[in-house]
Amino acid sequence: MKPDLFEAPDYYNLDELLTEEHKLVRDAAREWVKRDVSPIIEEFAQKAEFPNQIINGLAEIGAFGPYIPEEYGGAGLDQISYGLIMQEIERGDSGVRSTASVQSSLVMYPIWKYGSEEQRQKYLPKLASGEWMGSFGLTEPDHGSNPGGMTTNYKDMGDHYLLNGAKLWISNSPFCDIAVVWAKNEEGRIHGLIVERGMEGFSTPETHNKWSLRASATGELIFQDVKVPKDNLLPNKSGLGAPLGCLDSARYGIAWGAIGAAMDCYDTALRYAKERIQFGKPIAAFQLQQKKLAEMITEITKAQLLAFRLGQLKNENRASSAQISMAKRNNVEMAINIAREARQILGGMGITGEYSIMRHMMNLESVITYEGTHDIHLLITGLDITGLNAFK
Ligand SMILES: Cc1cc2nc3c(=O)[nH]c(=O)nc-3n(C[C@H](O)[C@H](O)[C@H](O)COP(=O)(O)OP(=O)(O)OC[C@H]3O[C@@H](n4cnc5c(N)ncnc54)[C@H](O)[C@@H]3O)c2cc1C
Repeated sequence: MKPDLFEAPDYYNLDELLTEEHKLVRDAAREWVKRDVSPIIEEFAQKAEFPNQIINGLAEIGAFGPYIPEEYGGAGLDQISYGLIMQEIERGDSGVRSTASVQSSLVMYPIWKYGSEEQRQKYLPKLASGEWMGSFGLTEPDHGSNPGGMTTNYKDMGDHYLLNGAKLWISNSPFCDIAVVWAKNEEGRIHGLIVERGMEGFSTPETHNKWSLRASATGELIFQDVKVPKDNLLPNKSGLGAPLGCLDSARYGIAWGAIGAAMDCYDTALRYAKERIQFGKPIAAFQLQQKKLAEMITEITKAQLLAFRLGQLKNENRASSAQISMAKRNNVEMAINIAREARQILGGMGITGEYSIMRHMMNLESVITYEGTHDIHLLITGLDITGLNAFK
C-alpha cells in the first residue's frame, strides 16, 4: 500500500471552531491512524481478519468510551471530541471505527446509562482499557429493521434468568468477552442483559464471506438455555427505547466517521489527479475531473458543518433522534458517492489495494445498511416532519 500522506481538507476553516482540547484529541487520533492503522489495514482487510494488535492503541487515543466519565475509565470528553475521534479512525478504516463504536456506544453506553453502580464498576474500566471487548446483540435473523419483533427471550427461574434465541450480524461477536443482549421477558418487555463468554450455552460463530468491513469481525450470538445471573440485567431502562438510545449515540459517531472515509477518498483522488499525466497534462486540469473534485469538497464541507452543529446540540443534550438520523443518512451517502467518484479518478489503479478508496467504498456498503438502513432513516425524517408513520 502507498505511504499515508493524508492531509485533512478544511475548506471552511472549521478548525477555528474547535477548542484546543478538540484539536489535541483529533491530532493524536490522526497520528495514531497514520502510524499504526494505515500500514497494516489493507493486509488485514485482504485476509478478512480483525487486527488485534490495535486494541491497546484504540484505548490509548480514548476511542473506548470517549464521553464516559473518567471515574469509570472513560476519557471524559465532550461529544465533538467523540465525533472527531470517530472521524479519524474511519479515515483509516470503517471496520476499525465499527469496533470502537460498538465498544463505546453500544456496550459501555448502556452499562453506564442503564446499568447499576456495581455493573458500571465491574465492566466499564475493563472495557475502556480494552482488556475486555464487547458486542451488542439487537438484530436477529428474522428481525433487522424491525427489532421490536425480536424473539430472543428470557424466563425468570427464581435465582437466575434462562436466555434463548439468536442474534445475527453482530460486530465484534467472534472475540467479545461480554455481549449486551436485548431480549424479551415473559410479558414481552425488552430488557438488556450482560452475557459473558464462558456461560454455558452461549456461542459466537463468525460470519464469513463478507466483501465489506473485512477488517472487522462479524458473527452471531447464540443462546441455548443460557443461565444468566440476575445481577446481569440492566435495571434502569427497558422497552425498545433502551437499545434505540444506544443507537442514537452510535449513529451520531457514524455521521462523523463517514466524513473521515470521504476525506481520505477526496485527498487521495486530489493528489493522484495532480500527479497523473494524460494527454500531456495532469488529469486534474481537465474540467470533468475538476467537477468531481469540486463537488466532493463541497459535499464534505456541508457534512462537516452538519456534524459540528449536531455535536453542539448533543453537548447541550438537545439533539433529537431524528436530527441524528438525518446526519447519519446524509453523511454516509455523501461518503459512498465520493468513494465511487474518487475511484473513477484513479482509473484502473482505483480498483487495487495500493490505494484505500475501493476498501472504503466496500466498507461503506455496510455503514449505509447498519445502525438503521438508508431507507429507515428517511422514514424517521418523514415521520418527524409529517407526524405520519410510513413504516407499516
Ligand atoms: C457488517 C454489519 C455489522 C453489523 N453489526 C451489528 C451489531 O453489532 N449489532 C446489531 O444488532 N446489528 C448489527 N448489524 C445489523 C444491521 O443493523 C442490520 O443489517 C440492519 O438494521 C438492517 O436489517 P436487515 O439486514 O435484516 O435488513 P432488512 O430489515 O431485512 O431490510 C432489507 C431492506 O428492506 C428495507 N426496509 C425494511 N423495512 C422497511 C420499511 N418499513 N419501509 C421501507 N423499506 C424497508 C430496508 O431499508 C432494506 O433496504 C450489522 C450489519 C452489518 C451488515
